[in-house]
Amino acid sequence: MQSHAKVVIIGGGVVGCSILFHLAKFGWKDCILLERNELTSGSSWHAAGQIHTISSDPNISRLQGYTINLYREIEETSGQSVGMHNTGGFYLASNNDWYDYLKRERSKARYMGLDQEFISLEEVARRHPLIDPKHYVAALWDPLDGDIDPSGVTYAYAKSAKVHGATYHTHTPVLETSQRPDGSWDVVTEKGTINAEMIVNAGGLWAREVGLLAGLHLPVQPMEHHYLLTEDIPEIVAHGERLPAGIDYEGNIYFRQEQQGMLLGTYEAIATPWSVSGTPQDFGHDLLEPQLDHIEDKLAIGFERIPALERAGIRQIINGPFTFGPDGNPMIGPVPGMKNYWCAVGVMAGFCQAGGVGLCMAEWMMDGEPSIDVWAMDIARFGDFATPHYGTIKSKENYERRFTLTFPNETLPVARRQRTTGIHDRLIEKGAVMDATFGLEGALWFADGPEDAYEDPTFRRSRAHDYVAAAIRAVRESVGAVEVANFAKHRFTGPGARHFLDHVLAGYVPKPGRITLTPMLTPRGKLYGDLTVACLAEDHFMLFGSGAAQEMHRRWFDRLLENRQGQVEYQNVSSRYHGIGLSGPKSRELLQRICRDDVSSDGMRFRDVRESFVGGVPAILVRISFSGELGYEIYVEPEYQLKLFEEIEHAGSDLGLKWYGARALMSMRLEKGWGAWTLDFRPDFTAAQSGLDAFINWKKDFVGKEAAMAEKESGPQKKLVTMSIETSDIDVSNDEAILRNGECVGYVTSGGYAHHIGRSMALGYIPVELVEEGQKLEVEINGTMYPAIVHLDPLYDPSGDKARG
Ligand SMILES: Cc1cc2nc3c(=O)[nH]c(=O)nc-3n(C[C@H](O)[C@H](O)[C@H](O)COP(=O)(O)OP(=O)(O)OC[C@H]3O[C@@H](n4cnc5c(N)ncnc54)[C@H](O)[C@@H]3O)c2cc1C
Repeated sequence: MQSHAKVVIIGGGVVGCSILFHLAKFGWKDCILLERNELTSGSSWHAAGQIHTISSDPNISRLQGYTINLYREIEETSGQSVGMHNTGGFYLASNNDWYDYLKRERSKARYMGLDQEFISLEEVARRHPLIDPKHYVAALWDPLDGDIDPSGVTYAYAKSAKVHGATYHTHTPVLETSQRPDGSWDVVTEKGTINAEMIVNAGGLWAREVGLLAGLHLPVQPMEHHYLLTEDIPEIVAHGERLPAGIDYEGNIYFRQEQQGMLLGTYEAIATPWSVSGTPQDFGHDLLEPQLDHIEDKLAIGFERIPALERAGIRQIINGPFTFGPDGNPMIGPVPGMKNYWCAVGVMAGFCQAGGVGLCMAEWMMDGEPSIDVWAMDIARFGDFATPHYGTIKSKENYERRFTLTFPNETLPVARRQRTTGIHDRLIEKGAVMDATFGLEGALWFADGPEDAYEDPTFRRSRAHDYVAAAIRAVRESVGAVEVANFAKHRFTGPGARHFLDHVLAGYVPKPGRITLTPMLTPRGKLYGDLTVACLAEDHFMLFGSGAAQEMHRRWFDRLLENRQGQVEYQNVSSRYHGIGLSGPKSRELLQRICRDDVSSDGMRFRDVRESFVGGVPAILVRISFSGELGYEIYVEPEYQLKLFEEIEHAGSDLGLKWYGARALMSMRLEKGWGAWTLDFRPDFTAAQSGLDAFINWKKDFVGKEAAMAEKESGPQKKLVTMSIETSDIDVSNDEAILRNGECVGYVTSGGYAHHIGRSMALGYIPVELVEEGQKLEVEINGTMYPAIVHLDPLYDPSGDKARG
């Protein structure tokens, strides 16, 4: 066995083999995959082999389309059959909520270039005579869906990788992974040690064990999963043509033809995590004891909806484990805090997703960034809070919800209060309805009190609507307070800090006592952050950004900081500073009551920052607000937050102070036309497309300048715009298609109801030639086209005087 490689991939399931294939195909031949047994010795061999495109995230759906379209290529390259049946498939709705869900998926498919269409129930029965259509109200059809042979696919990836020049070794368990001082990894096996520049954990069922070889605790969990295979069914034999695949959401079942019978799988309502404390090393081509009582109820639904199944003999019941991550999506990419260590784990639908995972991993490793935004799969969306225990209970929750409808305003109940702030219980007492970001609880909105603090999950405006309106009224007319603990805070100190930030950030790095807003770009000019930079001293900076993206940004900074030791010290201090924001015309009066500094417009200008004392505790005070109103953010160490809260409560009691949460904040920024990270701003877009180029300092060199400059010269093809939409009881959530004259021209990146101006609004990217004031478009919400109008200026305080006043 060779002693050196560019990349060693650990694990020869479908995911590892796809990564090997993509690396080799794109030109990295010096890559080796090590498999402890035969290929497919984890969950890959016993998969049901059903393939489909729908996923919770549009980019994952797009990559699922890529995966399915790749199968012909790897079959041809390898000469290995993938056993593909392109039958097409139905997504079946048995009630109107699911019908609405499918309409939303159809809307996404318009701009993802997927060819989905609604077909009549008569057509369902014609294409699949075994289905009893009376149980359904609608069916969405995707011609890409079907099934493959899982072993065939895995071997086709591996053999194609070999054709492209890569290598794999079976019966070669990896026993140790240890890092050398130069950052490379020694991968130890009984057959020898390979020194690799990078390693990839694609250990699937053993992802946890492979992670532990490098001291990494991964929050993934194998789950038991059942499907059954029937004997031949006379109706199928008589039909003659292969039947389409299908998913019945309410029934929580998926089905397809297998030989002359059927395969029926189900996600149990009460899931069973398997081998919680670790996957046995001697598990391989093994199955688990079927637990029929776990699936009886779902089988009964299946038998009712496909009556021939009840009459068919059961040939085999499969119970096999496969690995989930905490939110059900894969966890891929370089692990923050580790060097040259990559993961592609928690891929729970490997035969739909492994092609896309392999593509993105290869692009990321070779080019430094994937070609599309992979946030929904990025391992950096989890941090230390995602412990193995958290991984187990969230994986169980996600498994159970696999085909359960989650409404846009719904919060998931499991593993809550993993991280809390000092004022958590006080906010609950005030009627806060909470959700977690990066494991940290924060208020979404406030009801009248704890008894009243519940949401009704819906696609339409919910009971929160009026409460949010009241909170916004307080902010626009008097003063509101909002907890700002879950923003990320990144601290840079040292003599080289300014120089470093000037290189990393595209915008202006402020003078001491000032703050600026700046985009951060990748070398290809894609957005990688929109950050607020505060200069506390010439050698001391604090960057505020998306709390959810804090580990993604830490990874980015660590990468760019290489070879700057002694010059710059960097720390992600997000959990060392919590805070409270004040906004509204009376926010200054309130602040002045609890702060000895002069906070008048002369004493503290818009975009000033200082270290001071507020409410009698040490604080970083920033004059800025995302609400578009006069406002301040006060950051304190967590042990001071409760004190600050009490001081604000006391000082604001006669000023009409009201607490507000993320929903109100997100509504107010809409009427200002401001985008938000992970929604409107993300690596799918550039500075010029998003409008963040207005903050670029073109006089200096910075990461991504060349690409941004080229785009500045040629002009962007599309641009982010704000639209108002004519609706009466429903607003966009995200990902709705934007149309003009019936043609899809873009999609909604965020939106909702702008309470102060009283309009439904959306942000989205449209072709630049359509960007003009008053441009008439349509937005598709739950299958209905609503008229929309483009606005080039903010609909609230376009001059910005209120915030600056
Ligand atoms: C019953 C069932 C039905 C399913 N149905 C579908 C379906 O219809 N459609 C779909 O898309 N997905 C389906 N899946 C899910 C799919 O099987 C998984 O998503 C996929 O197999 C994950 O592949 P993987 O490569 O990540 O992991 P695995 O297949 O588990 O591969 C990991 C590999 O790593 C190797 N390994 C581990 N430790 C080491 C080590 N130390 N050294 C070297 N090698 C090591 C293992 O031997 C193994 O071969 C199903 C799964 C199950 C269980």
